[in-house]
Amino acid sequence: MKLNLFQFTPTTEVEGPGLRACIQVQGCPIRCPDCGVPQTWQKRGGTIVDSNYLVKQILEGRPLVEGVTFLGGEPFAQATVLADIARKLKHNGLSVVTFTGYTLEFLQNEKRPDYDALLSVTDLPEIVNVVVASTVKITLLFLSGYQYLWHHLLLLYLG
Ligand code: SF4
Repeated sequence: MKLNLFQFTPTTEVEGPGLRACIQVQGCPIRCPDCGVPQTWQKRGGTIVDSNYLVKQILEGRPLVEGVTFLGGEPFAQATVLADIARKLKHNGLSVVTFTGYTLEFLQNEKRPDYDALLSVTDLPEIVNVVVASTVKITLLFLSGYQYLWHHLLLLYLG
């Protein structure tokens, strides 16, 4: 499957707990007024990559790399391919964090198979809605047992 990629980071400690790979996708339809990464909004300008190539790159980082983080752009705009990547990584013992500008309620109410597929492979105990100055900026973050990611969200999106 093909993914429209903004940036791939093989190892990072700032996009979630522990050492993680990060897939930042190109394209976001949400357009938050205070977005810190407007360069990811357009579908044009990304790099089209094969999802299995990314899976292979991430697995080569084991055992130091413990998981993958999806961010954007908007990961749920490419939910099918990201769900496929996540399934393959989880099969190999890695965890999955997904940042999204949508609310969980919205994603669930849409009843879209692609949204449901990505939700089902995202480690998800914790939903965080961040509202700043009347602007819904970010929204969700998932990862079991890592509630300090709230802090990372704030740093990431509030600068
Ligand atoms: S959802 Fe994220 S990437 Fe999209 S506009 Fe909002 S802050 Fe920017």
